[in-house]
Amino acid sequence: MTTYEARLEGREEIAERTMALHFDKPTGFSFKPGQAIDVVLIDPPTTYTQSARHTFSIVNAPFQDELVVAMRMRDSAFKRALKSLPIGSPVKLEGPFGSFTLHNDRARAAIFIAGGIGITPFMSMLRQAAKSQLPQRLLLIYSNRRPEDAAFLTELQELEQRNENFRLLATMTEMGKSARKWDGATGLVNVDMVKHCVGGLVAPIYYVVGPPAMVRAMQDVLSQAGVAGDDIRTEEFYGY
Ligand SMILES: Cc1cc2nc3c(=O)[nH]c(=O)nc-3n(C[C@H](O)[C@H](O)[C@H](O)COP(=O)(O)OP(=O)(O)OC[C@H]3O[C@@H](n4cnc5c(N)ncnc54)[C@H](O)[C@@H]3O)c2cc1C
Repeated sequence: MTTYEARLEGREEIAERTMALHFDKPTGFSFKPGQAIDVVLIDPPTTYTQSARHTFSIVNAPFQDELVVAMRMRDSAFKRALKSLPIGSPVKLEGPFGSFTLHNDRARAAIFIAGGIGITPFMSMLRQAAKSQLPQRLLLIYSNRRPEDAAFLTELQELEQRNENFRLLATMTEMGKSARKWDGATGLVNVDMVKHCVGGLVAPIYYVVGPPAMVRAMQDVLSQAGVAGDDIRTEEFYGY
């Protein structure tokens, strides 16, 4: 795996307790949508490996000339350090790695299921698909507790307008705790929702990303919906 040095160019809040970090893209860095990198602090807050290095999916698409990661902010030593890292500071990036990338058979649709911050690898795939006018049917089921927690929601709605092959189904599971208006779907992703979405899509392959408990729950739902294990690909964001 290659190690690169990059600079922190910006930091922004993209949903409640959710931060995106922008780095300059090192010369020679290339990746596929869906791949991840390790962000390694040059001056870590403690000697524990876990406070020096974390894995993140790359949010931006290959055609874009920066590197972006996004994360739920929690009170871990690594994230505290990242939150206060001065803009312009160097970090190490190791990678890219991972095979959680879109299948090549464009005739087969892809159904993405993202739980919360699990949206990150799909953002890269969807941005690239819109840019390259990919002739492949893509459907995203995006589950969050509340609209306040749903990173990139506005951009996803815009991508749906721009890419006729992409459909978005966003669902909120705890609207009772939200201060925002929401006219879309509510409730957990279940067998009926999956069956309803699949209608008309050819031989889809399913991609599921989120915290381990959510990924396991979705595997059960897909299996109950009759989806073969071979057609399900998953990525677990441990730590949540
Ligand atoms: C391929 C991949 C891509 C990821 N992409 C993203 C992303 O885009 N955005 C995002 O927010 N998160 C992503 N994650 C998860 C991320 O790496 C962190 O684990 C997460 O952000 C939690 O970090 P923390 O600092 O809040 O908690 P931490 O304090 O680091 O960890 C919390 C708990 O997780 C456990 N844990 C830590 N490391 C591991 C490990 N290696 N294996 C098993 N358990 C462990 C710890 O024991 C602890 O109990 C990704 C993980 C993987 C594997």
